[in-house]
Amino acid sequence: MQKAQAYATHSPQDHLSPFELDRRDVGAKDIQIDILFCGVCHSDLHTARGEWPGTVYPVVPGHEIVGKVTAVGSEVRNFKVGDLAGVGCMVDSCQTCAACAEGMEQLCDNNGIVFTYNSPDKHQPGKSTFGGYSTSIVVSDKFVLKISPKLDLAAVAPLLCAGITTYSPLRHWKVGKGSKVGIVGLGGLGHMGLKFSHAFGAETVLFTTSESKTADAKRLGADHVVISKDENQMKQHLNSFDFILNTVSASHNLDAYTALLKRDATLCLVGVPEHAHPSPNVGNLIFRRRSIAGSIIGGIKETQEMLDFCAEKNIVSDIEMIKMQEIEGAYERMVKSDVRYRFVIDMASLRQ
Ligand code: NAP
Ligand code: ZN
Repeated sequence: MQKAQAYATHSPQDHLSPFELDRRDVGAKDIQIDILFCGVCHSDLHTARGEWPGTVYPVVPGHEIVGKVTAVGSEVRNFKVGDLAGVGCMVDSCQTCAACAEGMEQLCDNNGIVFTYNSPDKHQPGKSTFGGYSTSIVVSDKFVLKISPKLDLAAVAPLLCAGITTYSPLRHWKVGKGSKVGIVGLGGLGHMGLKFSHAFGAETVLFTTSESKTADAKRLGADHVVISKDENQMKQHLNSFDFILNTVSASHNLDAYTALLKRDATLCLVGVPEHAHPSPNVGNLIFRRRSIAGSIIGGIKETQEMLDFCAEKNIVSDIEMIKMQEIEGAYERMVKSDVRYRFVIDMASLRQ
């Protein structure tokens, strides 16, 4: 066991504060990483504050991890000491089911996903996995991603969750030239959705509640910006979308968006609010055979494909760097939809 410095919270009402944890010894197939940067996802906040069922305290959030390899096990062939490495939302899965065999570990048929934090830790029975708000991590080589040195490392971190969570559904529903795509919410996920939809060649519309984000949205890849509270603006887009990706972190009325879909088109939910959305209007769905779907992150193979695509196209996240000690202020801004457009923690602040 080795000690790592971290930030943890001990109850839903608590603030994140310094915490020391044990990382397992490096096994034959393990990679040890010194964490340099970790992105701040709204899922970290939902979990830390107990907004979703199942948080086991103490919890150390963080699943947008980039850093440098400091040790590899005897059977590791794909990484060596000194390489850049990334870890996203998963650190293991059953690896025997059909979904895992097809590279879709995030959809593991045996519910075998081990999340990077707040999952039972197979290697330390009785404990939970601890995430990236920490100085180091030890992960099985199959769940470690290659990071290109071409890109700004801190700005790559959010690709590990916000990036793949938007890339994967946009690929699955095959958006591209000739499609009209909506992205709902301009936060961490939403801004990556805009960048990918634009890069894939789709006509891209951002729906936002924050008028002040209009200029940024256009810079990030939106062809049009719609203020979603304005019914007249919404009406202009009725029955016109091939695909809408909804990243909103709070409960809201989905009917306003299903009404904008073409025949057979899909509204895909990736936001996971604390409280359920109101039940959707069935009429909106049956008359044009529209669908409401959901999507969760992406598999390891597709995450690597996304990282390679970003390196080729020079795509990274727009970030605001913070110190670990500033995390509660960042959470407060996130609650107010005031993230531009992803906070990233500089882990040097934990090493001082
Ligand atoms: P974020 O940075 O806080 O962005 C969320 C955005 O949603 C806000 O910036 C805001 O955009 C909009 N919004 C917030 N409250 C709203 C409300 N009451 N009504 C309408 N719009 C509202 O969060 P994030 O990190 O992108 O995460 C978004 C959600 O996705 C979270 O629930 C998170 O847990 C979930 N998530 C899911 C997956 C997955 O695999 N499915 C992966 C990661 C995260 P505007 O200001 O533009 O309106
Ligand atoms: Zn996330």
